[in-house]
Amino acid sequence: MIKSYITGFARIGEQRELKKVLENYWSGKVEKSELLAVATELKARHWAYQKDAGIDIISSNDFSFYDLILDTIFALGVIPFRFKNLNGLEQYFAMARGNKSAVAMEMTKWFNTNYHYIVPEINKTSTFKLNAEKIIAEYNEAKSQGVKTKINLIGPITFLALSKTTDGSCAFCHLDEILASYEELLKEISKLDDEILVQFDEPIFVTDKGDKLTSEISKVYDRLTSVASNVKIIFMTYFEHALKAVDEVLKTKIYGLGLDFIHGEKNKEALAKIAASNVVLLAGIIDGRNVWKSDIDKKLALVKEISSALGGKDFAIGPSCSLLHVPYTLKYEEKLNPEIKSWLSFGVEKLDEIAIIATLANNKELSAKQAEIYAANKASANSRATSKLIHDEAVANRVKNLSKFERDTVYEKRIKIQKEALNYGILPTTTIGSFPQTPELRQVRNAFKKGLISKEAYEADIKAYIDDCVKFQEDVGLDVLVHGEPERNDMVEYFGEQIKGYAFSQNGWVQSYGSRCVKPPLLFGDVSRPKPMTVDWISYAQSKTKKIMKGMLTGPVTILNWSFVRDDKPRSEIAKQLALCIYDEIADLENAGIKIIQVDEAAFKEGYPLRAENIPAYEKFAVDCFKLSVSSASAKTQIHTHMCYSEFNDIIKTIEAMDADVISIETARSGNELLKIFKSVGYKQEVGPGVYDIHSPRVPEVDEIVGQIRALLEVLPKEQLWINPDCGLKTRKWDEVRPSLKNMVEAVKIVRNS
Ligand code: GLN
Ligand code: ZN
Repeated sequence: MIKSYITGFARIGEQRELKKVLENYWSGKVEKSELLAVATELKARHWAYQKDAGIDIISSNDFSFYDLILDTIFALGVIPFRFKNLNGLEQYFAMARGNKSAVAMEMTKWFNTNYHYIVPEINKTSTFKLNAEKIIAEYNEAKSQGVKTKINLIGPITFLALSKTTDGSCAFCHLDEILASYEELLKEISKLDDEILVQFDEPIFVTDKGDKLTSEISKVYDRLTSVASNVKIIFMTYFEHALKAVDEVLKTKIYGLGLDFIHGEKNKEALAKIAASNVVLLAGIIDGRNVWKSDIDKKLALVKEISSALGGKDFAIGPSCSLLHVPYTLKYEEKLNPEIKSWLSFGVEKLDEIAIIATLANNKELSAKQAEIYAANKASANSRATSKLIHDEAVANRVKNLSKFERDTVYEKRIKIQKEALNYGILPTTTIGSFPQTPELRQVRNAFKKGLISKEAYEADIKAYIDDCVKFQEDVGLDVLVHGEPERNDMVEYFGEQIKGYAFSQNGWVQSYGSRCVKPPLLFGDVSRPKPMTVDWISYAQSKTKKIMKGMLTGPVTILNWSFVRDDKPRSEIAKQLALCIYDEIADLENAGIKIIQVDEAAFKEGYPLRAENIPAYEKFAVDCFKLSVSSASAKTQIHTHMCYSEFNDIIKTIEAMDADVISIETARSGNELLKIFKSVGYKQEVGPGVYDIHSPRVPEVDEIVGQIRALLEVLPKEQLWINPDCGLKTRKWDEVRPSLKNMVEAVKIVRNS
């Protein structure tokens, strides 16, 4: 018998209901009662979806007002001191967002996803005090609606491994205390029903860091499994293989073990051991990280393979991870090309896939609705294999016949030619690309998109903005100018919209953090660039100044990492196609007389795999892809890149291998400390370490920037340095940007003259 389960469901709401009510609640527009009412409605709806689809094992406590790690911090009562004077929701939201007197807790990316969690803060004096209210209430809430749930919890080892200690003490020193709280929690849970499933999420064990923590598993789970005989514990992992942890888990009295067979195919190696144990496998077989329909027949073959490796033992099938990472439903997609839409499967649609596969695997009969979905699924697999929308022979041939993968001239020669051609002096000044995105600008773009204003009126407004940007930059005395990116709403979407092979959903939102959602574009087919994407705007901007106007593009690795990407072709080939789009754009910009072109790779680091064994392959792939994209540039065209981080210690050689002539980075908040790596490895190319932090509204003083530049000069020679802010200025106001850049240029003058 094969059961179906869901690792966890999304909570922001299919029309972002939670986002909207949260933001209204924060701004005081609605009462707490309304916030709670929306939450109740969403939970009920999500349980109903899963139940109606026929899912056997549904979760509770996968809902959250902000983040599940924050919920765990709150439930364990490990509250940082600065929030101790508050309580309830006020305390909860203050931890996430800060308040007048206390800065918010740190937030960081959840493994290799674009979701962000709140980082637990622990120190020597941290205390724990269980508050199980939400967990218990949610279980009862589901039960009263006729849904008996498994309770989802963050596992103690992952919780501690993701914690940061604020005083250098060790987080795991608190293991005993934290376990006492979990034991107390399980005791309370055991009173809820005759028999209860509890899922402990332990994704830390799909990382190399987790491999070093496997000795904790028996210590922790021997204790947790002996709290109550009616509580059955599932040890859940996702995003990669957890082979090393499996051995330890199987020694405990755990009931179930969750493994990802999509992003951790190696997990198959564990099947024989699981077969020989008492543990029930929860097999993630539907991609929880992507939006394409799963070919049900192929999935059935995978289920058979797993089943026979398990020696016919019962197991369960579900998504590879929580459905938090995919959009909700296709229900609201009215504008997508129907053929493309027929290839897609969002969260709600994946529920049906899972239930159908389980039914077929059990040789049971499908319902009429399921039979219809199954038929559509077969048709979609055929159409995806042959559709003209996807398969573009010219693009495929171009990739196949590629013979040039990098620039012709080596850096040392190029930079000499460039310094002469571009004629820039010591410590050249520039910015990262965008200037403030004003409400007026957003309004103009929206009005144009909706057809409310003419193309002429739209272009006139954008040009007026570019005029202002250029004039301001000339007045303030910057050396290399930008056009300000007024025509772009998002650095990936802008290019996706102009690349053939991309589609956009209307409602494909995915939670990024708190109330913030993103809507990644859908790369569904062979991609190519029918016509220039930026040349008109950049040429216009260049026509307004005698100074150098920098062209501004998003790099192929970033476009790829921030899209939902087709799963019917190797990523390396798709990346080459994207690189060629940028390649063509660079050639056209060069022909139009643009001398410096920046290719942003904001998401380069994000694509890093979770396990070290896969890093060399990713690095090679990403570097090759970037180099191919800029290989159309002649020696005298200077290629810049920009990355939104400051920690380069582990990846400096890879960054150097990208072979960009200039890289701007985000070191403003770390002074010159993190820059030292550039020196210690003898990094050759030019570097623009941000000299002030654009993430804060604060205007830096001239003296302060002078100090910052001098600190940089202690590390790198003046011939190698560019001076710029640490990221794009789009989130700032003009009133902040004007004095900040004026002070920056002033500071450079002082340093140059001293
Ligand atoms: N050129 C982009 C900008 O300035 C870069 C944004 C980014 O790195 N996130 O907005
Ligand atoms: Zn940036």
